[in-house]
Amino acid sequence: MSINYQEILETIQEQVRPLLSQGKVATYIPELSKVSPQHFGMAVYCLDGTSYTVGDAHRKFSTQSVTKLFALALAFEREGNAIWKRVGREPSGNPFNSLTQLEYERGVPRNPFINAGALVINDILAQRFVQADIAVLQFMRMLADEVKIDFDRDVALSEQKHAHRNNAIAHLMKDFGNLHNPVATVIDSYCRQCSITMNCLELAKAGSFLANHGTIPWNGQKILDSSSAKRLNAVMLTCGTYDVAGDFAFRVGLPAKSGVGGGILAIVPGELAVCVWSPGLDPAGNSLAGVMALELFTTMTARSIF
Ligand code: GLU
Repeated sequence: MSINYQEILETIQEQVRPLLSQGKVATYIPELSKVSPQHFGMAVYCLDGTSYTVGDAHRKFSTQSVTKLFALALAFEREGNAIWKRVGREPSGNPFNSLTQLEYERGVPRNPFINAGALVINDILAQRFVQADIAVLQFMRMLADEVKIDFDRDVALSEQKHAHRNNAIAHLMKDFGNLHNPVATVIDSYCRQCSITMNCLELAKAGSFLANHGTIPWNGQKILDSSSAKRLNAVMLTCGTYDVAGDFAFRVGLPAKSGVGGGILAIVPGELAVCVWSPGLDPAGNSLAGVMALELFTTMTARSIF
């Protein structure tokens, strides 16, 4: 049965409208607090190249931790399973920027999506590329087929200025020998990576290779083999939505990666990638309206991995 995605997106937009004023925009990176919580956009990119959008789907936003997915994919593509010696793949059960677990687990982060894990991935990329952040940017441009994607220098500077906790995490890992480059290099590169701005449609298109067994659907280029793509989807499902990945799996039932800019990219394997953006966050750090929108999406389309 064919699905009318456009109608579904429009229905979702109506249904989540009352939630837009209930989320809280992230303020710990001051630049992010300037965005209105009233924005809502959603885009579906299907493997046959068709796409559907609603609301602010073409408006750029700060992708933040959604970039961790692409940095991980790039590191996995280059280094293969060697990355798992330096970062785990278990949910942390802790806030994304927590230090405590890292201390008693001797500097090996639980997974690549908490800040500690993303810093290690950045460090791994820094050994392969002249600049890790530029490598991630170019990778995302290539996947979205859009050269205009760029860093937001104000957001990057704002984050660098307030990166006390990320600096502490990086120094702790350096002390345990799990960071090979200078702390300042990794922090600067990580903050720039997180500042990349994109819109929902670009992100859905960029993520579509993960719905297609690791191959870019629109040009046939293989990024990862299907086994590796499966593994990335698994890490997204178990660790991609902060400390509430269990609840997200219960409500939405899709592998996904969220960011404190209010974006969430989710994958329907074999069919499509869907990205939603609404900057008001729930207490866990996920977009409040975004999670509801994805829950409605999987309910209305009867598509999920379960
Ligand atoms: N750049 C943000 C930080 O390090 C990313 C947070 C996020 O989106 O999860 O805190």
